[in-house]
Amino acid sequence: MAKKKTKKLKVDKELARERFKKMWPILKKTYPNATIALRFVNPLELLIATILSAQCTDKRVNLVTKDLFKKYTSAADWVKADLKEIESDIRTTGFYRNKAINIKGACTRIVEHYDGNVPGSMEELLTLPGVGRKTANCVLGDAFGIPGITCDTHVIRLSRRLGLSDNSDPVKLEFDLADIVPKRSWTAFSHVVITHGRNVCTARKPDCENCPIAKHCPSANNPDLW
Ligand code: SF4
Repeated sequence: MAKKKTKKLKVDKELARERFKKMWPILKKTYPNATIALRFVNPLELLIATILSAQCTDKRVNLVTKDLFKKYTSAADWVKADLKEIESDIRTTGFYRNKAINIKGACTRIVEHYDGNVPGSMEELLTLPGVGRKTANCVLGDAFGIPGITCDTHVIRLSRRLGLSDNSDPVKLEFDLADIVPKRSWTAFSHVVITHGRNVCTARKPDCENCPIAKHCPSANNPDLW
């Protein structure tokens, strides 16, 4: 089936800012407990879980990491492990060959350059193999408490539908959003928007009838803009 071509909303920055100001209090009130779905207890676990979550559901990742994090408790454990064994341990998350290479590569750098500890800055995180801005922002926001906007598929889709940005490139979109959303709310914004994208504004069938921000959304009931 041919992919539906979505029309592009033209976004004006000032208008986007105004829209955000109206929608944000409603979204925060609707999802007061929105948080990350991946389970972890330290930055290393979140880094590994985030790498595993590419093209995989958080539910599946949590199932796999339940045992995985008992077996590998430090970056050094991942470095010592045979690549084939890592592949076999993470196979059910998909794309396991690349993920195994990235996990082992990232942990090798963590051990060699950061004394076995996941570094806590964007600049340093981006030096780890397989870590892009999305993963880095997730680790910064949820493991280190440093504000970060995680531009995953939900944040990209909703930001466009909500008329907050017309960029689909995740890095450009992140910078657009960083200009609109106050820094202190970056991490919460990511969780709230992801939750709204999973529950109401889904990719195929957004439920505009029951959406609490429909009156402020330029794409409400307009399938051409979905
Ligand atoms: S009104 Fe519709 S398109 Fe807009 S955010 Fe709500 S569900 Fe999504």
